[in-house]
Amino acid sequence: MPSSITRALFDEVMVPNYNPSAMIPVRGQGSRVWDQQGNEYIDFSAGIAVNSLGHGHPQLNQALTEQAQSLWHVSNIFTNEPALKLAQTLVDSTFAERVYFANSGAEANEAALKLARRVAVNRAGTDKTQIIAFDNGFHGRTFFTVSVGGQAAYSDGFGPKPAGITHLPFNDLVAFEQAISERTCAVIMEPLQGEGGIVPATHEFIAGVRALCHQYQALLIFDEVQTGVGRTGHFYAYQHFGVVPDVLTTAKGLGGGFPIAAMLTTAELAEHLNFGSHGSTYGGNPLGCAVAQVVVDTLKQPMALANVQARSQQLRAGLERIGQRYGIFSEIRGMGLLLGAVLAPAYAGRARDFWESATEAGLMCLVAGSQVLRFTPSLLITHADLELGLQRLELAVQQVVNAANAPRK
Ligand SMILES: *Cc1c(COP(=O)(O)O)cnc(C)c1O
Repeated sequence: MPSSITRALFDEVMVPNYNPSAMIPVRGQGSRVWDQQGNEYIDFSAGIAVNSLGHGHPQLNQALTEQAQSLWHVSNIFTNEPALKLAQTLVDSTFAERVYFANSGAEANEAALKLARRVAVNRAGTDKTQIIAFDNGFHGRTFFTVSVGGQAAYSDGFGPKPAGITHLPFNDLVAFEQAISERTCAVIMEPLQGEGGIVPATHEFIAGVRALCHQYQALLIFDEVQTGVGRTGHFYAYQHFGVVPDVLTTAKGLGGGFPIAAMLTTAELAEHLNFGSHGSTYGGNPLGCAVAQVVVDTLKQPMALANVQARSQQLRAGLERIGQRYGIFSEIRGMGLLLGAVLAPAYAGRARDFWESATEAGLMCLVAGSQVLRFTPSLLITHADLELGLQRLELAVQQVVNAANAPRK
């Protein structure tokens, strides 16, 4: 189908903060996507760990269209049935007793960080302001959350940053123990760093951080924006680690493609965000909540989580096979369907080349920095689609390896 809407138009009308692929997707079904020319792709990206039920899921479409027939939006001057029902479900399925809805991961983290600061002000006065975060952590792009994130390159160049933020090496309990004090009001971490390169926390680190947060009365915030809602093969990753945070943020996969996020916490802490202290116009709107209800009801089922574990093993085995055959990966790491393939030294910094080659071979995937290929398919992906995607990845790898004329193992 010829179209005047092309990739070239992007450069004419869009702010250049993204550099999207040359092909433009127009339709999706399950784990398959088609572009303007009708080329088919296997989707190992799922909109960056968002389309957790795949594309065009019938029950999601039904929930969205049914809700669209009755009520789209009322603001938080009024509450609404889908929001209350979803909050009840999240409370019933996690440690949480209270829920705050937002529209993006950054906004959920903004709420979590503001809550932590407010709790400290109310309980301890003005000196307890330090927020500890970790190198290569990612928490969003609002100025507060990006400053808390552990890549200075993302927050540099925008003028004075919010104060009181300390960055420490991830998985280094000794450095953490030396840095935390009575002045620390919150510690924020991803149980498994996503954007930072698919780096899981060690059990020892996460348990040690929890204990020290208790000791110094600092809130422990788990940013599960990427790891939540079944992505790791557990409903939330904290349940795998057996370490319960004070605050948890969730977004990406929560809406299966509809923008929605939530901050979960205890009743006692929630009291500090009292009437008028924080808010959002769209947060918890009926459309998003009705869709997220289907996602949550589907993915808290042991059957769905078992599929994530089974497909995880299949994907990991396939990546290891390809890695060995062409000598391109030094490590496969991650949990569930959030896996990273770390490039071997001979291919250092070339993740984008593999990504481009994959797209040409009919596979949508992701990178996490310049050293790691990231795979976040739909959590409902079938054995057959996963196998086909791996075949296309192998073709893409052959292209890059041949072009580089690198010696094969
Ligand atoms: C994507 C992500 C965010 C930011 O979410 P947005 O919806 O883009 O604001 C925050 N934290 C983590 C761990 C993420 O992966």
